[in-house]
Amino acid sequence: MPKEIAASCLCGEVQILCGNPVGRGSYCHCEDCRKSTGSAFSVAIPFEVDQFRVLGGRIGSFTKHADSGNELTRNFCLDCGSPLFGTSPEHPGRVYVKAGILDLQSLVQPTHQSWCQSKVEWSEIDPALPSHPKGKTY
Ligand SMILES: [Zn+2]
Ligand SMILES: [Zn+2]
Repeated sequence: MPKEIAASCLCGEVQILCGNPVGRGSYCHCEDCRKSTGSAFSVAIPFEVDQFRVLGGRIGSFTKHADSGNELTRNFCLDCGSPLFGTSPEHPGRVYVKAGILDLQSLVQPTHQSWCQSKVEWSEIDPALPSHPKGKTY
């Protein structure tokens, strides 16, 4: 695994170095993730906040209390709108980077799925993957 994992948005203005991943990713089927991604679910990978560095670009953010009750801030590129990463005061040591913006896609190997109670019918994920009706953090 490379020492630094790079990530960028659609327009390329936002450049990020993520450091070391804490996990290999997970699916989230919650309604907030569906709305914010415009797709069936979100896939995010947790990184350590200490090593996470934004090198450039203009980043906007939107904060909302999730169904879990936790506050979640979603960060996006102000120029192209790409969802980038999420942070929460519940887990101050973590940054949850949207899997699709990572350059190294082989890193993405989701280990579980959460908020399956609000999962859509039109997108299927391997049913053998550990599933949680609500949230699971790590
Ligand atoms: Zn952009
Ligand atoms: Zn979610």
